[in-house]
Amino acid sequence: MPSLSDLLPALFPQELAPLFLVGLALAGACIGSFLNVCIYRIPLGLSVVTPGSHCHACGRAIPGWWNIPVVSWLLLRGRAKCCGVRIDARYAVVEAAMGIAFPLLFLRFPPLLAAVYALFVSGLLVASLIDIDHFIIPDRLSIGGALVGLGLGALVPTLHGAELAGKPWAGFNHALGGAFLGGFLLWVVVVVGSKALKKEAMGLGDVKLLAGIGAFLGWEAVLFVIVLSSFLGSFFGGAMLLLRKQVWGSRIPYGPFLALAAVVWLFGGGTLWRLLFQWWRQGMAGVL
Ligand SMILES: [Zn+2]
Repeated sequence: MPSLSDLLPALFPQELAPLFLVGLALAGACIGSFLNVCIYRIPLGLSVVTPGSHCHACGRAIPGWWNIPVVSWLLLRGRAKCCGVRIDARYAVVEAAMGIAFPLLFLRFPPLLAAVYALFVSGLLVASLIDIDHFIIPDRLSIGGALVGLGLGALVPTLHGAELAGKPWAGFNHALGGAFLGGFLLWVVVVVGSKALKKEAMGLGDVKLLAGIGAFLGWEAVLFVIVLSSFLGSFFGGAMLLLRKQVWGSRIPYGPFLALAAVVWLFGGGTLWRLLFQWWRQGMAGVL
């Protein structure tokens, strides 16, 4: 059996100075703070740039020093400085999650790829939380994300494999294949599912989101994401039934499970899969 000391260098091969990692964590937390603004404002059709941060309860502007990611929420014990209204812990959790995700991405991938995936993970997080809040995934995140993914496939072909360096067409084609497979496969599931169940099994928003995931990660990831997300979704649904908790009424948004599965793929789903297969083959070779 392989040990953790074999696994960690395989999953996080980049070497970075501790100070640089701290900087990445701070940058991630600040981006997370901006993503909170996007999650709140995009479904309402508001600009994500202006006006600056203000309290949703009393409307007063929030000065910079009470708007420091995670720290301010902890110092104020989850209440607004202006009027004392309760601030959902989710804001701080989103900031903390991005503060952890950024260093991990740069430990896992070369800088250019890590930057692209940081954008990708940010988009997935915003889409997931909007889906949880409103049961929609805005087109500008799903279709927009797919178009960005196609463009980046051509600009940064190594997103789709180191062997594609300097081959923009090959990168674009791989991205297109992923977007097509993602969109097509899940569209079939949606059409067949809603015919069989006589109700909407899944939204077209999920189809467009998987097309976007495919454009960034390629078609191999699409298969992985479909399998893992349906497993996660049914597991969650089953657990909610057992606990008799109807968190979302009878509907469960599927976008978050697609996003979670894509992140698992990014952080080693594919690598783990290949390593397990390798070890299994070595083990078999040892036995035979
Ligand atoms: Zn207030």
